[in-house]
Amino acid sequence: MLSAKDASDAEHGQITTLNEPVIIPRSEHGISRSQFSPNALKVLYRLKDGGYEAYLVGGCVRDLLLGLQPKDFDVVTNATPEQVKKLFRNCRLIGRRFRLAHIVFGREVIEVATMRGHHGGDGGGKNNISHASEHGQLLRDNVYGTIDEDAERRDFTINALYYSIKDFCIYDYANGVKAIKNRRIELIGDPETRYREDPVRMLRAIRFATKLDMSISPATAKPIKELADLLSNIPPARLFEECLKLFLSGKAEANFKALREFGLFKHLFPALDKILDANPDSMQERFITQMFINTDARINNDKKVTPAFIFAALLWFPLLQRCQELMQREQLPHFDALAAAMNQVLSESAQQVAVPKRFTLGARDIWHIQHRFDKRGGQRAYRLSQQPRFKAAYDFMLLLVDSGQDDLKELCDWWTAYLNADVNGQKMMVKSLGGTTRGSGRPRRRRSGGSKRKGDKAAGESS
Ligand code: ATP
Ligand code: MG
Repeated sequence: MLSAKDASDAEHGQITTLNEPVIIPRSEHGISRSQFSPNALKVLYRLKDGGYEAYLVGGCVRDLLLGLQPKDFDVVTNATPEQVKKLFRNCRLIGRRFRLAHIVFGREVIEVATMRGHHGGDGGGKNNISHASEHGQLLRDNVYGTIDEDAERRDFTINALYYSIKDFCIYDYANGVKAIKNRRIELIGDPETRYREDPVRMLRAIRFATKLDMSISPATAKPIKELADLLSNIPPARLFEECLKLFLSGKAEANFKALREFGLFKHLFPALDKILDANPDSMQERFITQMFINTDARINNDKKVTPAFIFAALLWFPLLQRCQELMQREQLPHFDALAAAMNQVLSESAQQVAVPKRFTLGARDIWHIQHRFDKRGGQRAYRLSQQPRFKAAYDFMLLLVDSGQDDLKELCDWWTAYLNADVNGQKMMVKSLGGTTRGSGRPRRRRSGGSKRKGDKAAGESS
């Protein structure tokens, strides 16, 4: 339970120290072991039988209380990672900033964390250290501690809920159950300090608010705009992981809007952010919004989504803009300008978000195909339609047209008809094109964005 002062702070969204937890017995919380992953149960029992404390913690307890299916089951224990490793043959120790044990059961991984204590306390073993940067950011957080301390180190009150395998009670350290009832996302402790310790919490606040259909408490929301710049201290590989969570959550559109509102999007995709700021209510904005709406619909219908498509879309307008600049400034022919623009835009974007090569290769394919759609003569249409990324590239073109890129409509309709035709129909369609679309290899200049120019056939199209 919180002290009187803490309770009053909590009303304002600030909890300084956590005292005794509210203990919710099995008869009152309605969560049963049958709802857990059998592997998580195995891990909990093995730890308990090994003489350690073991709890389910965080998102899985929160989600079960909300009647949602947890994405994963996280375990916390007072055993050190090395002690955990001794108990499980299928255990891998991972992480430097935050050392963890992964217990691997085929495709399922149960993450086991050792309870974290206060940084700045006496260290102990050589792995038992924490280390902060000049911005207050925790670079290492391997100070082990008690469950109470562990609860204080968690991000949001709704994430500091512990289910004990010993007595099947839920231990609620920060009034998380009340926050769930009030549908409030509130940080534990002083929001500014907690964001400085780990600026990714700003992204997590948004993600949980949209995922759980909750609102961010005023005290937790307030510092975000001011502190958004701190995201630049986060390694791009971690921001990529966070982007995937934000965009593959089934709430990508809502996350995109919130990221823009809170000034966080510019630290993830600065070039696109600038273009969107300069073009309110534009075709560009419709394209990105519709891309996220479609992504959400696919995820919510259990359809596959490729991150390559999402990143191709997010960097498309910066790519067209750069290509145009290179053609004008450096007098490069379109084909060369496009190749150089792809390299530049991808490597600049990797300063913020490190998209792995398997996805940037996919994005490049999708972009390349946009520039080949109007070369349909001879075998070209057929060959193009057999490319592995053709379907994604075609969907990309449909999205451009749906967002208002009218100069592409005729070409897009042609491809839609072509894909619906049988072999003979396809041959007829190609034949009736005449000699106009063979593609001479001669560069044609194109304009970027949704703007039209007489003679344009496809977005950013040329050679
Ligand atoms: P989901 O898995 O549905 O995204 P989650 O709450 O389980 O949500 P995880 O990233 O799996 O999120 O983290 C598990 C738990 O670890 C969280 O519930 C929280 O208690 C703690 N946690 C994770 N990231 C942080 C962080 N950056 N700062 C403080 N605590 C964190
Ligand atoms: Mg989780």
